[in-house]
Amino acid sequence: MAKRDYYEVLGVSKSASADEVKSAYRKLALKYHPDRNAGNKEAEEKFKEINEAYEVLSDAQKKQQYDTFGHDAPGGAGGNPFGGGNPFGGGYAQYGDNMEDIFGDIFSNVFGGGSQRGSRRSSGQRGEDLRYDIEVSYLDAMKGAEVAIDIPKKETCRTCRGTGAKDGAKPKTCPQCKGSGQVRYSQGFFSFSQECPQCHGKGTVIDNPCSACRGEGTVKEKKTIKVRIPAGVDEGTSLKVTGAGNAGANGAPSGDLYVVVHMKRHGEFKRSGDDLHTEISISFSQAAMGMEYDVPVVDGHVKMKIPSGTQPGTTLRVREQGFPKLGRNVKGDLYVKVNVNIPKSMNDMQKRALFEYAKSMGEISKDAQYQNDSFFKKIFG
Ligand SMILES: [Zn+2]
Ligand SMILES: [Zn+2]
Repeated sequence: MAKRDYYEVLGVSKSASADEVKSAYRKLALKYHPDRNAGNKEAEEKFKEINEAYEVLSDAQKKQQYDTFGHDAPGGAGGNPFGGGNPFGGGYAQYGDNMEDIFGDIFSNVFGGGSQRGSRRSSGQRGEDLRYDIEVSYLDAMKGAEVAIDIPKKETCRTCRGTGAKDGAKPKTCPQCKGSGQVRYSQGFFSFSQECPQCHGKGTVIDNPCSACRGEGTVKEKKTIKVRIPAGVDEGTSLKVTGAGNAGANGAPSGDLYVVVHMKRHGEFKRSGDDLHTEISISFSQAAMGMEYDVPVVDGHVKMKIPSGTQPGTTLRVREQGFPKLGRNVKGDLYVKVNVNIPKSMNDMQKRALFEYAKSMGEISKDAQYQNDSFFKKIFG
């Protein structure tokens, strides 16, 4: 498959400024980020493509190479300047600092909190944030609830109290990376940094590691965490539980836990924002004469007045039987679509009554006499 032009991939012109390139990239990366497109192969390919384009166009030297030679720059196998389908020879996971700088912003947008990814690598030891997807019933989303969830997570090792060292020895600076946690590699024209293989990004190593945690300072455990679901949550609402993520290595602070809400389906109601929609069926005579109807709501029933002469398909509103707005004292409404049933079979008495009714409405000659079933059929086809 022919490689698409990098400028085209990011949707920017050749004269675009560095800021324009970055902003175009952010927009696309946000849209196609794997966290938002789980299992979507096409999005994954797109994400790789825009990362590749950005990697080149955001770097003055690579951009110049590309502007001069295009995809056929000299020096690469198969006419590719970057030695493979991708300048860094792999997926987005390897892009390192440059990406985190950008994704720090993106993640604060998604979760409405502080930047997590951007700062983690530099401190090296803060525990990772965790995500837990939870299904919430209509009733719990309406009234609020407290739920207990079991998650496997890293907890501070009790044996070494998180130091990772046996006998309380202090960790020492990693000889390979001199404490930075990163090592730089060169490949062709480019150099890039990677997590230090000796200390795994921590910057320190331990001579006598704790046997319970093998020097990690943390152990994996199943933890039960109580999460308060506030009234009004909806599909995609992210609830942050500060400090409930993985414990940090060697006593560093814990990450946070993000509980992402998914709405359980309800057989009777459909949610639309704060409003609810449902359908009921009443008879032809009830629609004509009006009635008081016991309409189901999420937590029971309420009385609803159906006015006389209600037409099939009419939608009636029951105020404040929808969801509360998250964190506010305002409620949505329940919309009830009224279906009208036409009787499929009637006994002789009912037919006679309807015959007289039709007569009174002038639909049948007032001299006509109700006779029998076949006569009735003749009149009404
Ligand atoms: Zn330990
Ligand atoms: Zn190291």
